[in-house]
Amino acid sequence: MTTRRDFLQTTTGALAGLAFVGCELMEAAPAKGQTRRREVVVNGKRVKTVDIHAHCAVPEALALMNLKLAGPSLRPDLDMVTEVSKRLQAMDEQGIDVEALSINPNWYKVDRDLAKQVIKVQNEKLAEAVAKHPDRFVAFATAALQFPDLAAEQLEEGVKKYGMRGVAIGGNVAGEEISDPKFNPFWAKAEQLGALVFIHPQGDGAPAQLQQRFKGNGYLGNVIGNPLETTIALSHLIFEGTLDRFPGLKICAAHAGGFLPSYSGRSDFGCPTRPDLCPGGTHGPIKKQPTEYLKQMYYDTMVFNPEGVRHLIAAVGATRLVVGSDYPYPWTKTAVDLILQTSGLSDADKVAILGGTAAQLLGIDT
Ligand SMILES: [Zn+2]
Repeated sequence: MTTRRDFLQTTTGALAGLAFVGCELMEAAPAKGQTRRREVVVNGKRVKTVDIHAHCAVPEALALMNLKLAGPSLRPDLDMVTEVSKRLQAMDEQGIDVEALSINPNWYKVDRDLAKQVIKVQNEKLAEAVAKHPDRFVAFATAALQFPDLAAEQLEEGVKKYGMRGVAIGGNVAGEEISDPKFNPFWAKAEQLGALVFIHPQGDGAPAQLQQRFKGNGYLGNVIGNPLETTIALSHLIFEGTLDRFPGLKICAAHAGGFLPSYSGRSDFGCPTRPDLCPGGTHGPIKKQPTEYLKQMYYDTMVFNPEGVRHLIAAVGATRLVVGSDYPYPWTKTAVDLILQTSGLSDADKVAILGGTAAQLLGIDT
């Protein structure tokens, strides 16, 4: 069924595509029976575009936890074996050359033995999926963060044995903040490996904890709950000093960092207003102004309109943005167009946001 929203999105995408034909875009000749692959060009130069926010799932791992692909959350098209051609077609249509695959953690409450099995099969299957289309996919490792020492090992194995480019984690771990010192072994390993850590909100975090408030019309559990979860997670990494302790960490936050970059000024004024709630000094036990830390993390571009992109850049800098689509969840089909349509961006900024920065972070050849 085509909803009005789908129709509007499709129409916008089609029009956006038309607007750039001839100057920003070239279309590759399609092979017989295949979707025409959209190639993105900025100022005459082909750009390899990278989508840092693309979900998948591994049915064999879900089965270990008595789960299966079905319904709106565990969508069947998360499957990288049975549904990959549909995914590639969407990428071709939208001008996405490479997806960085991640799996949303749903294993943070399982015991150690089961967690080991789940992560092993997931990382193996992720590696297999990438190996079938090495020019179209890279992957973030999965890790059982509820056992930080084990998670550090799984991350290292993911990078060294399976060629993963980083690790995807939740905004909390079974109710514990990711800034808790118990997670230091994991952070230390990520820093040592130079692995990008992609932080995505956990459905059982803020969205579930505020369920009563989010009921009613509007999909508020996700619309508000997910960005709130990320806002809380990043704030703790800043205010608890995790980013001071591990200054080499490379962190990328989903959904443009939630609400944090949109209202960052307030982060600098909490401690001066209530120093008694910031033990250790005016800004607590941290070394810089809270907003300074925002400029050392990365963010996907899931803000849906050019003004959102402009504001995000004003808060964190153009060098900190990477394209995100949330595939296969149908939030947007125009992640590439959003960057092409944002005025005030230099060609170099566009190239960096569309793929250059992500390629550098993820070790993708351009
Ligand atoms: Zn997502």
